[in-house]
Amino acid sequence: MTNSELLSSAWAQEWMKSCAAAAREHREELIELDRAIGDSDHGENVDRGFRAVVDKVAAEISSDDSTVADVLKLTAKTLMSTVGGASGPLLGTAFLRAAKAAGTGDIDASTTAALIEAALEGIMTRGKATEGEKTMVDAWAPAARAARDAADAAQSPAEVLRAASDAAAAGADATIPMVATKGRASYLGERSAGHKDPGAASSALFLAAAADAADTTGKGA
Ligand code: ADP
Ligand code: MG
Repeated sequence: MTNSELLSSAWAQEWMKSCAAAAREHREELIELDRAIGDSDHGENVDRGFRAVVDKVAAEISSDDSTVADVLKLTAKTLMSTVGGASGPLLGTAFLRAAKAAGTGDIDASTTAALIEAALEGIMTRGKATEGEKTMVDAWAPAARAARDAADAAQSPAEVLRAASDAAAAGADATIPMVATKGRASYLGERSAGHKDPGAASSALFLAAAADAADTTGKGA
C-alpha cells in the first residue's frame, strides 16, 4: 500500500464535516423516523451534536500535527456533552473506542476496519443491545464485518469504508420489520415493526460520510 492510501487527520476532520452535513440534510427524515417509534428528537440530536463537533474541531484541532485519534476523541467528548437522549452516550462511546483503535498515526485498511469494530464494541458495551433488537447495532455490526472482509481482501481504506457504508445501509433497511427490544422503541412492542430504526438510519449516514470523506481527501483535497 502506498502512503497516499493512509487516512490522516485531514480525513477525520472531513468525516466530521460530512457527518454534520448529512445530519442537517436528513434532519427531518430522522425526526419522522423517531416520531414513528420514539420521541421525535433524533434528527435534532444528531444535527446539534455534529454541528458542535465541527465547531470544536475547527477551534481546537491544529491541521499540522493532529492525528485521527485526536479528532475522534474530541468528537466523542463533544457528542457526549451536546447530544441528549440515548444516542449521545452511545455514539460518544463509539467514537471514543474508535479513537483508541486509531493509535497514534495515519491509519491503513486493517486499522480502518479495527476502528469500526471498536465503535461497534463500544456501542454494544454501553447499550447492552445485540443484533436484531432494532437499534444502531444493526447498522454497525454488518458494517464491521464488511470492513474486516474488505481489509482482509487487501482493499484500500476508502474501499473498506465504502464496503462498511453499503453494509450499514442494508443493515438499517433490515431493521424495518424488526420488533424493538431495546431503547425507547421497545415500549411499543409489536407496534415498532414496520418502521426503520432512526439510530440505525443515522449511523448508516455517518458511515457513508466516512467513505465520502476518504474519497475526497484521498484525491489530495
Ligand atoms: P432517545 O431514544 O433517548 O430519544 P435518540 O432518539 O437520539 O435518543 O436515539 C434513538 C436511537 O438510539 C434508537 O433509534 C437506537 O438506534 C439507539 N438506541 C437506543 N437504545 C439503544 C441501546 N440500548 N443500544 C443501542 N442503540 C440504542
Ligand atoms: Mg428520540
